[in-house]
Amino acid sequence: AERTSSSTLTLLSCRLHSPCYFLLRRLSSPLFITFWEEISVMDERNTPMRTYQVCNVMEANQNNWLRTRHISREGAQRVYIEIKFTLRDCNSLPGVPGTCKETFNMYYYESNNANLWFIKESQYVKIDTIAADESFTQVDVGDRVMKLNTEVRDISNLSKKGFYLAFQDLGACIALVSVRVFYKKCPLTVLNLAQFPDTITGGDTALVEVHGMCVNASEEFEAPKMYCSADGGWLVPIGRCVCKPGFEENKDVCQPCRPGTYKASATDAYCTKCPPHSSSPQEQAEECVCEKGFHRAETDPRSMACTRPPSAPENPISTVNETCVTLEWSPPRDTGGRGDITYSLHCRKCSGDGRKCTPCGSSVHFVPRQFGLLSASVLVTDLQPDSNYSFTVESQNGVSDLSPTPRGTVVINVTTSQTVSVVLKERRSKDSVTLAWQGPERPNGAIVEYEVIYYEKNQREQNYTVLKTRSNMMTVDGLKPGTTYVFRVRARTDGGYGSYGGEIELETSHEGKEVKNKHFADIWYVRLVFIQRIFITSLFPFLHLSTHPVKLPGSRTYIHPHTYEDPNQAVRDFAKEIDASNIRIERVIGAGEFGEVCSGRLRVQGKREIYVAIKSLKAGYSDKQRRDFLSEASIMGQFDHPNIIRLEGVVTRCKPVMIITEFMENGSLDTFLKKHDGQFTVIQLVGMLRGIASGMKYLSDMSYVHRDLAARNILVNSNLVCKVSDFGLSRVLEDDPEAAYTTRGGKIPIRWTAPEAIAYRKFTSASDVWSYGIVMWEVISYGERPYWEMSNQDVIKAIDEGYRLPAPMDCPVVLHQLMLDCWEKGRSDRPKFGQIVTILDKLIRNPASLRELANSSAWSDPSTPEFSVNTVDEWLEAIKMGQYKENFSSAGYVSLDSVLYISVRYRWLVTHPS
Ligand code: AMP
Repeated sequence: AERTSSSTLTLLSCRLHSPCYFLLRRLSSPLFITFWEEISVMDERNTPMRTYQVCNVMEANQNNWLRTRHISREGAQRVYIEIKFTLRDCNSLPGVPGTCKETFNMYYYESNNANLWFIKESQYVKIDTIAADESFTQVDVGDRVMKLNTEVRDISNLSKKGFYLAFQDLGACIALVSVRVFYKKCPLTVLNLAQFPDTITGGDTALVEVHGMCVNASEEFEAPKMYCSADGGWLVPIGRCVCKPGFEENKDVCQPCRPGTYKASATDAYCTKCPPHSSSPQEQAEECVCEKGFHRAETDPRSMACTRPPSAPENPISTVNETCVTLEWSPPRDTGGRGDITYSLHCRKCSGDGRKCTPCGSSVHFVPRQFGLLSASVLVTDLQPDSNYSFTVESQNGVSDLSPTPRGTVVINVTTSQTVSVVLKERRSKDSVTLAWQGPERPNGAIVEYEVIYYEKNQREQNYTVLKTRSNMMTVDGLKPGTTYVFRVRARTDGGYGSYGGEIELETSHEGKEVKNKHFADIWYVRLVFIQRIFITSLFPFLHLSTHPVKLPGSRTYIHPHTYEDPNQAVRDFAKEIDASNIRIERVIGAGEFGEVCSGRLRVQGKREIYVAIKSLKAGYSDKQRRDFLSEASIMGQFDHPNIIRLEGVVTRCKPVMIITEFMENGSLDTFLKKHDGQFTVIQLVGMLRGIASGMKYLSDMSYVHRDLAARNILVNSNLVCKVSDFGLSRVLEDDPEAAYTTRGGKIPIRWTAPEAIAYRKFTSASDVWSYGIVMWEVISYGERPYWEMSNQDVIKAIDEGYRLPAPMDCPVVLHQLMLDCWEKGRSDRPKFGQIVTILDKLIRNPASLRELANSSAWSDPSTPEFSVNTVDEWLEAIKMGQYKENFSSAGYVSLDSVLYISVRYRWLVTHPS
């Protein structure tokens, strides 16, 4: 508030003979003429100074005026007057009359006229009567010591051009040393890059609103404004200016950005260094220019590095499937510094020698699209068979259009496949057909295998079967006699599937009468020997399975998820992502290592809802747990076999992470068997074992070693189909409650594991065969614990000494023999899973072989394949048990059918009544 500037006005210099003097004289009253005199005196420091003095104290009626010339107001509304003066104390003057005064008056007169020579006394406006604070007592004119008084008065609300000041003496002794007239203003200032000019304060208390001007190279961000207060201070700043692009603020000025820096927007505070691959050679840059070969897309922010088009896509692969081809490639090595890579394809159809190519036209289709593809793969459909195509895959990004250099491209040449040539020969019997064919003349790669699809004529929709072989020939058996089947063959090369050859219709030969009778006798034989309930439905699955196509060994190998650098990629490759909204969880059915297992339903597009099991990963899992949890899906997803639990898919995009598998109504095999102790026929049990062996054969063909094959890890569905499950990576070690630590530190389910695997972790399909033998034992004994309550140590010792589990109760000799074979010490002496399947198939087809029980010499079955009876009594006679005829009839077993419902166990009791 004190930042005031002042302007001093010199007093009107009046000399006796000057006009001023005249003026003063004229101003004075004609009656009492006294005069102000201009006198030079010395101040306290002996500096000469001019004063106006009057001192007519000896005479009464004094009225002496001293007046200034016109003082311009200069716009000020309030003006301050500072006067310095000395005044004599009347008492100090000897002999002065009582008329002596110690005050004088100060007046002003406002006027636009700067040249008034006369102003009437009555026209003046009195400012104040001025008295001295200090008076001097000694009059020592010429060499006197002066005591200066200073008084300030102000006049406000001035409106005319200027004013005159006047001093009236009424008989005092005064020396007027200086009169300073000034006004206050708010000084020029710069605030928030806005300049506020010198501003004269308003009158009285009014604030003056002042608009600021943006300083050079700046622009208004919000209108700058301040108020100038009455005492010359700036108040309440509002708004601001900001430096224009290319300039930055530095101490109230905007200075240009230095070379190498830029400022793109006025609202950015400071200049910043040019982003990579750009520069600004001149100062004041609003943006940096890209280096040669680099560009900035229109939508790229100025702060982004300059980028360039990507290099060409790499590692192109094509997989032909008939007249479709999947093209895949890896992203360009150089992305050009951008993340917005897309791909476009150009298709040309070429002549045989590849010399002449023409654009493919609109008949060829690209899924998901031809241009602007986001992923590095595309499916091309509707190609012509046996034709050459050349696909150019072009990579581009947001600056490709700005670059004159040609796009990075890679060419993929593809030959669509030929169909398999006509089937050359065939041989038919009542239940089998043998086909032979010739492969395509010019296959688009090495032939890996052939696929034979067949179905009953007009039944394709309901049921068809796909078989695979590596040879040019195949015998399809298990067919219905006298039935027409349709066969088609296609080749698979390392480049993909070819298209199917034409349909071949073949009819199996009709069965002879004799054969039919024999077949009938077979059935009765089965029924009578086993006196059991035969659920056709439960028997059916494995009978059906026995005709199921068997995968060719080595046709595919299991890929361990750990061989993937990114385990998530394994999940993506082998498991289908399911939209969580298609899953309905219904109830909890179990607990797994990583969380709950629930049952529920899955809606699959275009199909009915299916029942599924849902394993979820409990909250709070670590990355490793998530990986291990999903590893089960990436393993399971590689398998496709009716005796391997089928993976429906995974939910990884939202939480909880889930693994969805087919639902197995009867849960795990060990619990299931304990619950239904003694309730199944041997055939049913063997059927289950056959299924497990078949699943294990499939796994061993794929070089997958299970390591934890046990009844608890087999699941059973409502049709009694058994499926191998539990494929997690960490399972054997962490999850299985049966697993115990071995001397070598590993955690192993001792009772199920082959000695070489326990001793030196030699896990192979042969050690899986050992475990399979234990599973056989578990199944036949209805879930008994292997080696009962023996300790793990004792089990290891006993095995080492050659001890093997004895046959469970009612176990056919052949089955126990098979178990013992599985438990051969030398692992190469054990049967292969393929052999086990064959053996079990034979047993199922020839149930007589199951008659002889390992631990029951009392029971001898006289039945032979030729044996045939019609009544219960006949049957009891035939088996030398005629003495029980009455027991049977009184128990209500009157028909052969009803006898079938007596369980195997009951049979044992009957034959051992004691
Ligand atoms: P797991 O984690 O695989 O050991 O599963 C734990 C338990 O959940 C099993 O012992 C079964 O009782 C049950 N379970 C797992 N998967 C299925 C399935 N697909 N169907 C029916 N029950 C299942």
